[in-house]
Amino acid sequence: MKLPKVRELIEAIKALIVGPYTSKFPKEPHQPHPNFRGQPKFNQNKCVGCLACEEVCPVEAIDHQDMIPAQGGTAKRVMIHYTDTCIFCGQCEAACIADHSGIKLSTDWELSFFDRKKSYETIEKELQLCEICGTVIAGKDHLKWISEKIGELTYSNPTLYQTRLADLGILDPNIVSALKDRGRSDRFKILCARCRRETTLTTKSQ
Ligand code: SF4
Ligand code: SF4
Repeated sequence: MKLPKVRELIEAIKALIVGPYTSKFPKEPHQPHPNFRGQPKFNQNKCVGCLACEEVCPVEAIDHQDMIPAQGGTAKRVMIHYTDTCIFCGQCEAACIADHSGIKLSTDWELSFFDRKKSYETIEKELQLCEICGTVIAGKDHLKWISEKIGELTYSNPTLYQTRLADLGILDPNIVSALKDRGRSDRFKILCARCRRETTLTTKSQ
């Protein structure tokens, strides 16, 4: 008979005293190590909807859809994370502009689904649209984030400072008449880059 080695004997005695290394899953819930790299989770309050995480994801596990209502209503960006595609590499967290907190690896590891089409999670971020053409400019929180980063330089960009004033609730919506022909007075609206250029170059006077 082959005798156990000393190391194996020590391990066996240790296991008798401190218990086994393995967990009793599925009889008992498994508690992973705090540093376990599990499913990334969006943080609704921290994410600004900038799409940096989508750009860097090596397996396209992050996607988005911009929902623009035909008439009125709130334009939204839906951020989507596909848990069945994700490889938990953490690149999204590393690239997240919101202090690496808009999306973060969690310790969630139990990702089984009966229906694979349900293996995704979403959050919604409100969008800012161009007041002339309706093009998506960016997420409202993203514009606010930029404004906070550049400080007083915000006031060199009408789109940024008008968004900021609107966010603070001190923007008078009647300050500029509802002009449609992209004249100079439209420059004080919240505009996309194309409309900003057109209103800047036009010679029409309002
Ligand atoms: S952890 Fe990696 S694979 Fe998963 S969503 Fe983030 S970047 Fe993509
Ligand atoms: S803030 Fe972070 S989580 Fe949100 S879209 Fe940008 S990179 Fe992704």
